[in-house]
Amino acid sequence: MERPASVVKELMENAIDAGASSITVEVEEGGKRLLRVLDNGCGMPREDVELALVPHATSKIYDEKGLKKIETLGFRGEALASIGAVSELTLSSRSAKSVTGWQIRSIFGRFKKVKPTGMPPGTEALVENIFLEIPARLKFLKRRQTELSHIAMKVRIFAVIYPHIQFKLISEGRVLFRNNTSAQGPEKLTPLIGEDLSRRLLKISSQEKQLRIKGYISSPTDCRSSSRAFYFFLNGRPVSDKLLWKAVMEAGRGFFMKGSYPAGAVYIEIPPELVDVNVHPAKHEVRFHDSNQIFRLMFQAIKRTLESSGNRDESISTTAKDSLGDNIAVSNFSSHKQKNSASGTDTDSENSVQEIPLPWEKKGEKTRKFPLNSSFTEHTSEQKHVSPTLPSYSDVSREIDKNEYKNSKDIGQGSYTGYSSFDIIGQFDATYVIAQTENKLVLVDQHAAHEAILFKRMMREIKNSESSISQPLVFPEVVERSPSDIARLESVTGQLKDLGIAAEKFGDAQIIIKAIPYFLANEKEGVKEAVNIIDSLIESPDTQIDSTIHEIVASFACRLAIKAGQLLKDEELRSLFFEMDEESVKHCPHGRPIAHIITLDEIEKKFGRKK
Ligand code: ADP
Ligand code: MG
Repeated sequence: MERPASVVKELMENAIDAGASSITVEVEEGGKRLLRVLDNGCGMPREDVELALVPHATSKIYDEKGLKKIETLGFRGEALASIGAVSELTLSSRSAKSVTGWQIRSIFGRFKKVKPTGMPPGTEALVENIFLEIPARLKFLKRRQTELSHIAMKVRIFAVIYPHIQFKLISEGRVLFRNNTSAQGPEKLTPLIGEDLSRRLLKISSQEKQLRIKGYISSPTDCRSSSRAFYFFLNGRPVSDKLLWKAVMEAGRGFFMKGSYPAGAVYIEIPPELVDVNVHPAKHEVRFHDSNQIFRLMFQAIKRTLESSGNRDESISTTAKDSLGDNIAVSNFSSHKQKNSASGTDTDSENSVQEIPLPWEKKGEKTRKFPLNSSFTEHTSEQKHVSPTLPSYSDVSREIDKNEYKNSKDIGQGSYTGYSSFDIIGQFDATYVIAQTENKLVLVDQHAAHEAILFKRMMREIKNSESSISQPLVFPEVVERSPSDIARLESVTGQLKDLGIAAEKFGDAQIIIKAIPYFLANEKEGVKEAVNIIDSLIESPDTQIDSTIHEIVASFACRLAIKAGQLLKDEELRSLFFEMDEESVKHCPHGRPIAHIITLDEIEKKFGRKK
């Protein structure tokens, strides 16, 4: 029980075992001050309440035949006891038959007598001041927001596994998450991958003997820059497993752009005796007795689904003229809502349900509107480049050679190889670049496009030890971390260096940060962000390290890219299109498309010139 989120998980499992149809999790300060799990399950009679906090007081180990573990989530009978030992735990419970509830407290292991309490049927576990008397543990709790997002993740996962149960997460009195219990099919994945995307998921289904695979996967046009949006559930439990992931990625080869990953979930049903779960309990690893079979079945199921979607991903610069449109989401022009360019706040502040972002949805991804004379335009006009280039990450971006640029402009319209052949009309809403060829109109999201370009370059360049984006800190920063975090630091020092961060072990329980990326160094929150990056690499299991780096670089690219709402000069627009070809970008690193094509044909149909 090393953090609030693991406590929440245990308490939710108890509530589920108790047959609850509604489970509310309430936290203050990321669960460090307080966390409460309330359910409407069967509750406990007085004698069970008295025993519930005693180690090994489980009602679940044996079934009537004696020995076999019965099908419930908990079986160790010590979760409540160990929570009560490290916090002020108040457990209140009322069974449906009882007229009153009963309450017992354990204050850091010291029991208080059971007493009656008024409450509706069900159970409430209130955990306050966790680890307060265990300073060594308290110290290593992460920031409130980090703990909160771990808790939110647990609640979201449970909401996907038990979609018929009403889950609610409240933090500091505000509802952060609430699932829709009537969700059907792929929409059941909404808590993990968002409503929009889950509606567009493709179905996976396959069976061989006693092994069944069901689930949903995003189409290649909906991919993500992180593998964290793909989940495996084995007999209803979340697992992470290299073999399963490998099968998905191999099946997706040729469909998903390099460095991008599908979102979705696969539910595997297999007789429990054919698999060892919890080879490593904390990591949810599994071992299949017949790993060939599971690999093959998973591979085939995913490949079949992707093939039937007819969405093979090919680089636009290498495909023939007319396939450009196929590779880019074609949308209904009129459905583009014109945004109010004067204000950057278009969210409904009235709404009481405040979605906290999913882990791969970086804060920076939401584009902001900037003043017209933004730093970018000023910056480029000062630059002495011969050719118009976009603001570039000085160490990494290649300058465009003047002649190269000129040549690309000369390419005739009939034989274009990509975006360079479009004639630029201008900007719409200071966010979308509009351009044309003889029979197509294209809208390019300037932020997404530039982000994609910078992302590709950075990914290439961080591997290149010559160039460094690091800037020494005048005052090195020292942060405290657990000895295990510090041990892990050594194995990620190289990756951190690539990302421009010089961090070293400093004593037994501290890390010293000596340099951070130059574009963070000038910012107030820069050091904090660098610390977050260090934490995310430390926390990332080896199998996920690449995707963590991918995400970090994506956030760098996002930060440096031209913003939405920024007015650009003609040559800057042209240069953007040129660079899009040069890097053959198609999706932004977060998986959003960067362009929309509208064909003349469609337009003619819209205006009734053609049927
Ligand atoms: P385990 O779940 O492994 O049995 P716990 O320490 O989590 O052990 O819980 C001890 C016992 O307390 C459970 O076996 C169950 O009988 C009872 N209990 C705990 N939480 C609840 C709940 N929310 N509703 C009803 N009974 C509960
Ligand atoms: Mg339990």
